[in-house]
Amino acid sequence: MAGNRAWILKSRPEGLPDMSNFELRDIGAEPLEDGWIRVENKWLSVDPYMRGRMNDVKSYVPPFALGEPMQGGAVGKVVESRSPHFEVGETVFHMLGWRESAAGPASAFNKLPQMPVEDHQWLGNLGLTGATAYFGLLRVAEAKEGDIVFVSAAAGAVGSAVVQIAKAKGMTVIGSAGGADKCAWVRELGADAAIDYKDGPVVKSLLAAAPKGIDVYFDNVGGDHLDAAFAAARQNARFAICGMIENYNAGPPPAFRYIMRVIAARIMMKGFIYTDYMAEMGDFYRDMGGWVASGAVTGRETIHEGIETAPDAFLGLFKGENMGKMLVRL
Ligand code: NAP
Repeated sequence: MAGNRAWILKSRPEGLPDMSNFELRDIGAEPLEDGWIRVENKWLSVDPYMRGRMNDVKSYVPPFALGEPMQGGAVGKVVESRSPHFEVGETVFHMLGWRESAAGPASAFNKLPQMPVEDHQWLGNLGLTGATAYFGLLRVAEAKEGDIVFVSAAAGAVGSAVVQIAKAKGMTVIGSAGGADKCAWVRELGADAAIDYKDGPVVKSLLAAAPKGIDVYFDNVGGDHLDAAFAAARQNARFAICGMIENYNAGPPPAFRYIMRVIAARIMMKGFIYTDYMAEMGDFYRDMGGWVASGAVTGRETIHEGIETAPDAFLGLFKGENMGKMLVRL
């Protein structure tokens, strides 16, 4: 095989990362040990949580090591196998990240269910972001038919899946997104209302869109969106705290004006990581596989071409440059 280029974490960012934090380097091809496979990557995932891993702090996943390749979700084809568990030509998922090819023990690679879907969907609606939407909405928030659901970053990968799962389950959905085009797409996905948070205070728009209040808030953004959800919560509302992208580069929000409504409205808030629900992936593949097959859940991708573009794609997440799942095609 020719070279094997990978993106290395060169330095740790303060605030918003930039290109100086990354370096594209040829790391060569590791010799294939007994029990190992080699995979040629076809698709790389870029995800907001990676921003947290660029900091040298303890969290639910260890920080990226300086001078080492960036880890993260990828899908590729097996090109060499010294494992009885994988055959050349199989499509697999792994977390070895932003590199042209990955080699390692078979245990580092996941087989994918037999479903007639395109490879990149294993990084979107049938992958990490779809599973996050599914478990966050249905298990964490225990959302059910008839609930009024508010979801932020609704034109993103997780948010667009939340909108569609909620509609498939008979809920009323209000999504927020930045800009008229994104809001139009959120409505196309079936949302009953879409809020352009760049066009005025979220709290005002949410109270207007949900005059009866909300039963569920699926938080992808934090800050003013979370505060607006406190203001709009009905009795016994449930908040699934999935992400707070507004704060990943800027630090924690200064204050929540409406937080005391947690008490009077008996709000239940729970943070979660999708891996908490790995034991229930069978349910996810059954339900999401069915919705994808029937067209009840559709996907949209913003695709960057070539490994050279991976940091740009990643940085674009913090500027709202994606509709649906942000991906890099190799
Ligand atoms: P995404 O929503 O596809 O992309 C990020 C979007 O966030 C952008 O397109 C942008 O949309 C919005 N955004 C960026 N900066 C913002 C800001 N300052 N204020 C408001 N909105 C902002 O990304 P994703 O992969 O689906 O992830 C969504 C959230 O879920 C993230 O918070 C992520 O960390 C979290 N997540 C959590 C888990 C878990 O297990 N807990 C797993 C996966 C993802 P607009 O143009 O609409 O602003």
